[in-house]
Amino acid sequence: MSEIFDPAKIYLNSINRGCELDSEEQEEVYKNKRKESLQENSVVVISPSRSSFFRDTGAGFSLLEGKCQRQAFLDYKLATVTNKSDHISYRRMRYGQIYEAQEHVYEKKAGILIESNYRMEKKISDKVSISGELDSIVNLEGRKFIVEHKSYDGYYAEKQIKGSSTTNGMPKYDHIAQNMFYLAMLKEDPKHQDVEATLFHYRTRGSLEPTIHVLQLAETRNSEGKIVDAYPIINGTEYHFVSLKELITRGIILANHILNNTLPPREPDYEYSEDKIRYLLSISEISKTKFQEWEKGKTKLGSWQCSRIYCSYFDRCMGHTPNNKASWPCDEDILKDMYKETVDKTFTENW
Ligand code: SF4
Repeated sequence: MSEIFDPAKIYLNSINRGCELDSEEQEEVYKNKRKESLQENSVVVISPSRSSFFRDTGAGFSLLEGKCQRQAFLDYKLATVTNKSDHISYRRMRYGQIYEAQEHVYEKKAGILIESNYRMEKKISDKVSISGELDSIVNLEGRKFIVEHKSYDGYYAEKQIKGSSTTNGMPKYDHIAQNMFYLAMLKEDPKHQDVEATLFHYRTRGSLEPTIHVLQLAETRNSEGKIVDAYPIINGTEYHFVSLKELITRGIILANHILNNTLPPREPDYEYSEDKIRYLLSISEISKTKFQEWEKGKTKLGSWQCSRIYCSYFDRCMGHTPNNKASWPCDEDILKDMYKETVDKTFTENW
């Protein structure tokens, strides 16, 4: 007997296959570009979008913000992906790109767009370079600003961006880190060194309601006038939860892993202890719903980075695949000492 014709099911299966093909093509383009750049030069190019840092929660432990270094390393080494993005994650990424392109159209029509997708590169040693691309540079009544267009949804993003009854809204931490690099790099760019700040242009994916945050740098300069460190000023308030020096240091640590073929340690906290969970609940960094699910044993709670949705190497890293044995030596204690020496030297000489 023939199956009942179900157009909804057939349609969804078809467009999801289209999405999958698009995702595979994009992955191929990305891999080929990476292969070419690896063959062309032996310089490790670190992207500010891969920045990360440890944020002190004030309760005796820190949380990793931004990208996991192990994941960045595996990406760089073109390691085999064990956990592909699903349709939803891939669509989210693509719609984010479409949102950004459309806002460029509006900036252009408004007559404020100076540059879109502006690329910058800064060599910090013979072997390491930092390279990134910011969304827009705009002219607002004769003054220049970076604009980063970001769409978002979900409990955690909304709480961070809009704030709550007890916290001020602010940009997402990885966006702050990324733009601290951009602002510092632009200060040395003859074309755009007069850029004053980054405006984060957030919109929810549902209502498209806007939220704008402003990021500036509180800089420390040496006797030659070069920036040696900086803290973020967010909406007029200076914060010390991250510094430029820390971000650069971590970038160099990642570059050293790549150059020396040593697998970075697992930095995110895959599974929080009960104490951590209760503390994070008390400051609303874990929702009540998630907490109740965890109490009933329905879910584990840990760093968002370590999940099959956000990490393409989750199964490999967590040992869920037969050939998971790391191909790179990893002696974390030896590495820590080695990095300290290399990092301090490179930082003071070249940034
Ligand atoms: S599973 Fe976690 S520690 Fe391992 S690579 Fe992914 S994010 Fe990093």
